Amino acid sequence: MLNIDLHCHSDASDGMLSPAALVARAAANGVDVLALTDHDEIAGIATARAAAEAEGITLIPGVEISVTWEGVTVHVVGLRIDPAHPELAAGLVGIRQGRMERARRMGADLARAGIAGAYEGAHARAANKEMVGRTHFARWLVDEGHAGDLRAAFRHFLTRGNPGYVEHEWTSLENAVGWIRGSGGTAVLAHPGRYPFTARDTHRLLDAFRALGGAGVEVITGSHHPSEYGKWADLARAFGLKASRGTDFHAPGEGIEPGRVPALPHYCRPVWEGWPELQPLLAPASAACF
Ligand code: AMP
Ligand code: MN
Ligand code: MN
Ligand code: MN
Repeated sequence: MLNIDLHCHSDASDGMLSPAALVARAAANGVDVLALTDHDEIAGIATARAAAEAEGITLIPGVEISVTWEGVTVHVVGLRIDPAHPELAAGLVGIRQGRMERARRMGADLARAGIAGAYEGAHARAANKEMVGRTHFARWLVDEGHAGDLRAAFRHFLTRGNPGYVEHEWTSLENAVGWIRGSGGTAVLAHPGRYPFTARDTHRLLDAFRALGGAGVEVITGSHHPSEYGKWADLARAFGLKASRGTDFHAPGEGIEPGRVPALPHYCRPVWEGWPELQPLLAPASAACF
C-alpha cells in the first residue's frame, strides 16, 4: 500500500526543515506521495518538487490557507494547486501581509505583559521573513525560558485569553476554496477535530464547505486522537466528502514524523481517488493483488 502524506510544513512557513530536507526525510520514512502544505505560502514548492524528483517520490503541490469562519480560525488545505495561478498567489500575498501586521500586534501584546523582544525573536526564527506565525513566537518563548515546551507556550501564551493572543481576521472560506479550485486544486478541511465547534456548528461548517465546492476532510491527521478517526470518517461519508490523510509534520522532535500515521479506514473514499499522477504508482500494486 502507498504511504500518502498530504499535510506537511517546511521552513517556508512554520516548519523547521527546508523543503528539500523535508522531502528527503519523508522519502527516508517510506513516504511515496507527499504534499507540501505550508501556511499561506507556496514558495517552497519549486525546490520540494526538484528534491522529490531526485528522491523518486511524488510531490503534490499544496498550501494550508488560514480562514475565519463565523469568527473562528479554520484551516483549508489545497492539494494539486497551481502555485503560479495569479488569483491564488495574490490572495496568499494578502494573507501574509495580514500575518505580519498580526505578528507586530502579538509582539506588542507580549511586551505589555512584560515580555519584551518577542516580535524580533520570532522574526529571527522565521526562515521566510514574509511568514511569521505563532509557532515562531512559541519557539522563541521556549528558548527564552518563558515556557518549558511548545505545548506549554501555547497553553500559557498565544491562545485566547493569554498574553500574545490577538484577534485576527483571516480570509473567507469562500475565498480560500475559490482560489484553490480556481487554480485546479482540491480543497480539504484540515484537522476538523481541532476546532471549538459544537456538533451543530460542525455540521453547518461541513455543509458550507461542501456547498462551496470543498472535496474532502482530514480523517487521519496528527491532530486527531485515534479514538476520533471513526467519527470523522463517518462524518465525511455522511456529508459526501472524501477523506484525507496527513501528519501535519513541522519539525523533528515536534510531533509526528512524515508518513507515520495510520492508513485511512477501508470504507473511506480517499481524496486522491482518480489523481492521474498516482495511477503509475497504483497500477503495479493493484495488479500484484490479483
Ligand atoms: P498561526 O497560523 O500563526 O496562528 O499558527 C498556527 C500554528 O501554530 C499551527 O499550524 C501549529 O503549527 C501551531 N500550534 C497551534 N496550537 C498549537 C499547540 N497547542 N501546540 C503546538 N503547536 C500549536
Ligand atoms: Mn503550523
Ligand atoms: Mn492547521
Ligand atoms: Mn498544518
